[in-house]
Amino acid sequence: MAPIRIAVIGVGKIARDEHLPSIARDDRFALAAVVSGSGAEVPGVPTFRDAAELYAAGPAIDAVAICTPPSARTGLVRQAIDAGVDVLMEKPPTPTVGELRDLADHARAKGRVLFTTWHSQYNAAVDALKARLAGQTLSRLAITWKEDVRRWHPGQAWIWEAAGFGVFDPGINALSILTRVLPEPAFVHSARLLTPANRAMPIAAEIAFASRALAEGGEMTAAFDWRQTGEQTWEIAADLADGTALRLTGGGTTLTVDGSVVEDAPRHEYDRIYARFAELVASRASHVDPAPFELVADAFLVGRREDVEPFED
Ligand code: NAP
Repeated sequence: MAPIRIAVIGVGKIARDEHLPSIARDDRFALAAVVSGSGAEVPGVPTFRDAAELYAAGPAIDAVAICTPPSARTGLVRQAIDAGVDVLMEKPPTPTVGELRDLADHARAKGRVLFTTWHSQYNAAVDALKARLAGQTLSRLAITWKEDVRRWHPGQAWIWEAAGFGVFDPGINALSILTRVLPEPAFVHSARLLTPANRAMPIAAEIAFASRALAEGGEMTAAFDWRQTGEQTWEIAADLADGTALRLTGGGTTLTVDGSVVEDAPRHEYDRIYARFAELVASRASHVDPAPFELVADAFLVGRREDVEPFED
């Protein structure tokens, strides 16, 4: 089969770190162009200043990967669908839940493939945790996602603006694991949104969840914090009602059961994402998963904003 001719839109950190290398490694894809408002160049392919120029005057393409911040994504996805190409979306998919539903309807109406990616779901240890939670009841589940914003998002002003998601930008990765592995859905019961007085979006958040997966008196919580220097923590601790202790660490790459490592695979999230996209394109099926996004929206709906000290980059 001929490779899927793909263009990458938005050549920032994630496009360079993950998308372009994964596309280059997968012979089911051929990079055909990039779209970059700032004129970023990638060897061997043309750069277009905007997507309209690509569709009007560029090489023939079958698909685009949209790697911009979410605030720019809705219009770009609709434009791509109208241009007759399939679409892979970085996370978080759109600024609002309503826009995602609208894009899914539009893709369906136009016969295009739409794929909402949640990169943290694409780890073998996450699959293994899901298998171990199937049919189980939990006495406790605690998400701890604490990292240094200055280290991972240097100078990214958009992340602090409305629709930039603040600490939910990484936090949604943990929530995407939660929605993938739980045997029953989780719902936001309450939330605290700790927000620098000079910013629109939170720097830390605490969430309490309700879920039918919990035993009577059980607790499910998430703690997200962007103020952690030194060691970084991306962990989900799940204690089963039968006493088994499951620990998913390293952002979803390692699973231990009662202290013994049962899965520890290197991170190949984006290679698996592109493998899945190739399958979706071949079968003409979309994959639109709003569940992690709905939890974030609900946290903002029921969450209490609390001002904390101003943040300067
Ligand atoms: P970034 O480094 O700021 O890059 C985003 C790029 O998108 C910019 O360089 C720019 O590229 C383009 N762009 C288009 N409209 C923009 C706008 N209004 N504001 C800013 N940039 C705009 O961000 P990133 O870290 O790559 O994140 C992009 C998306 O990937 C986010 O949704 C993020 O959640 C997700 N993501 C990031 C990481 C990570 O480790 N950084 C990991 C997983 C997922 P051009 O100048 O080329 O147009």
